[in-house]
Amino acid sequence: MEREATACTGRARIHDQPHSVIRKGELLVVFNVMEEIAKHSLQDIFVAGYSGCQCEICQNDILAIALNRLPPQYSSRQAGEAYIKARLFADQWKVDIIRELTKAAEIVSASKRHE
Ligand SMILES: [Zn+2]
Repeated sequence: MEREATACTGRARIHDQPHSVIRKGELLVVFNVMEEIAKHSLQDIFVAGYSGCQCEICQNDILAIALNRLPPQYSSRQAGEAYIKARLFADQWKVDIIRELTKAAEIVSASKRHE
């Protein structure tokens, strides 16, 4: 699935790979920094004693529910810089992230999508 988007330098194609733009053959990525921190924080709630299923399907469900409730924080910087920014803000956002991940884990645990 592709759709056309107009960029300041002309027309660019937005592919179905999330948040990425192909321009002049180079892959430029827009990061949701919040998503990166939430992915890493998922392990924290598992270590903290979450007893529900931790398979890939459930992990993705937990992440999706939590990220829908957390404000996205996009960065157009290169990967390295985006991660530095993520680390700078991680502590500030961590409380909210852990709270939403914990709530999401309870929801997923109560209504698993698989056997
Ligand atoms: Zn599962």
